[in-house]
Amino acid sequence: MLLSNGPSNQIKTSQKLPLVDLHRHLDGNINVATICALAKQFNVSLPSYNTNELAKYCQINDRTSDLLSFLAKLDYGVSVLGDYHACERIAYENVCDAAEQGLDYVELRFSPNYMAKAFSLDLDKVVEAVILGVKRGVSELKIEVNLIGILSRSYGVKECEDELNAILSFHKDIVALDLAGDELNYPASLFKQHFQTARDKGLLITVHAGEADGPKSIWQAIDLLGAQRIGHGVAAVQDKALMDYLKGNNIGVEACLTSNYQTGTYIDTKSHPINKFIEHGISVSLNTDDPGVSNITINDEYALAKSVVGLDETQILYLKRCGFEQAFMNDEQRLKVLSAIS
Ligand SMILES: [Zn+2]
Repeated sequence: MLLSNGPSNQIKTSQKLPLVDLHRHLDGNINVATICALAKQFNVSLPSYNTNELAKYCQINDRTSDLLSFLAKLDYGVSVLGDYHACERIAYENVCDAAEQGLDYVELRFSPNYMAKAFSLDLDKVVEAVILGVKRGVSELKIEVNLIGILSRSYGVKECEDELNAILSFHKDIVALDLAGDELNYPASLFKQHFQTARDKGLLITVHAGEADGPKSIWQAIDLLGAQRIGHGVAAVQDKALMDYLKGNNIGVEACLTSNYQTGTYIDTKSHPINKFIEHGISVSLNTDDPGVSNITINDEYALAKSVVGLDETQILYLKRCGFEQAFMNDEQRLKVLSAIS
């Protein structure tokens, strides 16, 4: 029985399961109307200032050729972050959006460097603004939120050091560290020291791996960076020993079906290995990645898992249970989330 395979038994099998999203980029989920409004405020040139027209540029309707083409779609959103109020605003709107989609708990991840680039903002102040926006949202809405800081590997080792320092300045308000960006050209081995420093400060670790590169990238994320969860991890299916290791060490996989199709990681969603992860007993959660850019909700992803991948009700419940178990929540948040849905 799959439901008994989870790493903890905090949820009774009969209990309603919370809806969670653990892999959600807040800087990949900026409302198109907000992009238009901020562009006008900060005199940023865009292909259109009409929401419907601009959506054609900054959202993906079918797919892109590869990960880097996908990531280019995110650039519109961060290009309009002209001051710290704008950063606070999009963080707040992300919490509102998550609550509207019915999420009981969400982990929002963001790259301070990526958000700061267009207007050369101060990294510390960007982090502070994001935390303020999230706190405002949580104080108004019935949802629990944790923040994950991202190192954007594509900017290189030195810039990631600055980014890490900004994240660590606020380590009490940030639960984990992630590595994202150009996986092929910036391997995990370059960032070993960054992640050691973060772990010493008590941050948990999740790493984008096995999305654009093969199984060796996932091994590196685990062995060199101390990853407790893997973002995407689709390439793990090519390596039986890795599949066994993920299961045996309870390393969670954060699956993102639509995103993986749109980045060209898989030829079609039906071929996604999520069902193989489930059959293998690996802890796998279902997530959105960049819902604003992909133009999806978490419920769309569950619908896709059922109708296209063909998962049955037991497997859907398994994904939900794994999401709750993998979450980087403290005990107090866990109890809050459970009591909110019971
Ligand atoms: Zn991601």
